[in-house]
Amino acid sequence: MSQDNLPENAHLTQRMFNSLLASQRAPLDDLVLHQKQTLQALLTHAAATTPFYREHLSGLTETTGRIGPDGFRSIESIDRARVERCWPGFISQDIPVSHGQQRIVMTAATAGAPLRVVRTAMTDIADAAAIFRHYDNFKTDCSLDMAEIMAPSGYTRRREGRHIDRDHWGHPWVPDCDRGRLHRYSVFSSCADQAAWLGTFEKPFYLRTYPSNLHRLLESAAQSDFADTNILAVHSTGEPVSPDLRETCRLKLGCEIIDHYATAECGLVATQCPESGDYHIQQESCLVEVLRDDGGQCDIGESGHLTLTPLYNYGFPLIRYQPGDKARLSSACSCGRTLPCLQADIHRPEHTLLAGTGVMTLLPGRITSTLDVLAPDARWRLLQVDDGHINFVYSYPRGARRVKESDIVRFLTSEFKHAIVVVCQEDPAVGCTSGGKFSLISSV
Ligand SMILES: [Zn+2]
Repeated sequence: MSQDNLPENAHLTQRMFNSLLASQRAPLDDLVLHQKQTLQALLTHAAATTPFYREHLSGLTETTGRIGPDGFRSIESIDRARVERCWPGFISQDIPVSHGQQRIVMTAATAGAPLRVVRTAMTDIADAAAIFRHYDNFKTDCSLDMAEIMAPSGYTRRREGRHIDRDHWGHPWVPDCDRGRLHRYSVFSSCADQAAWLGTFEKPFYLRTYPSNLHRLLESAAQSDFADTNILAVHSTGEPVSPDLRETCRLKLGCEIIDHYATAECGLVATQCPESGDYHIQQESCLVEVLRDDGGQCDIGESGHLTLTPLYNYGFPLIRYQPGDKARLSSACSCGRTLPCLQADIHRPEHTLLAGTGVMTLLPGRITSTLDVLAPDARWRLLQVDDGHINFVYSYPRGARRVKESDIVRFLTSEFKHAIVVVCQEDPAVGCTSGGKFSLISSV
């Protein structure tokens, strides 16, 4: 494809990518000013075109017709449950034509139904430009192949095994023949199948998968099936990356893990710094706050609720949205990039277990899909009793197939590798909360 025939979105992505390469080293004052202007435009749009914000932002407008910094900080944060309850109210009734085509995406579902959000071509362009900046920071060669082992769609409780199709992943503004090919495989397939598939790659390539899946692959006996392939780096997302896993990856694959933090609702939020290991906030496209329980701003190093305002979500504006993750701000990075940083331990408490040697994070889709097979009719949750000790608490309707506890214990013990004690406990009240929702993991 010649440059003249490229879709307009590819040109826009390239322009934004070039702009982001420069802005990550711009004076912080310039970044802050740009973010304020972008935020102001978003607030005006949300108040004018969405029922939810028409109601919730009225009264915050100053005499200038704008919502100032104090007004913004007085906007109540919202969580996923609130968005689900008021769902139609978040959809913009007048999306600017310049934001392009709209589509609905589903977020991952750990319990209950996935959340639907509206994305536009503009949100995709902003995310693509930022992810290519991330790749560029790690000198990623976007003309090489990418082997992706992820959930086949946003709805992670699907149980199908292999899922292969082919596409390109490299810069959309270069001809297809110069773009890396994308090869996909399902994370719900067995380690042996994944390893055999990775062993078929003959040229150097990149691997993209979840940290928990990488952990399983590297601990698996099948690892020898792809030990001779040349994986240049592992791109990860979706879960925290432990220092142990980074070290194991270096030892066994001879390469680094390159991680970023993103959510389906808000897009790309922060990317690992190649030098410090902190995560640079994507300041140009997302306003990130870390808040205390009382809504106050956390100090640097203080753990709080990650709070996001994606600045290009004109189809489904989310202002001060809390996806449920905890994070800590970091001090200015030594690498020369001026984008503010989060520390590397962004995590979701309800997906996190303490397992003797450290914090472990579940890949909800993987765990739930397997437990749904082992306990097809049961309602269950994992209860952290103390460090390294979890209970599988379950109940099932009268007449349903009984849970085979030994299978559950064997699966969970092997899944977590580290020293962990698993006890099954039947409890008719499991999973019942007043809101009808429950977390996969909770602590006593
Ligand atoms: Zn840095």
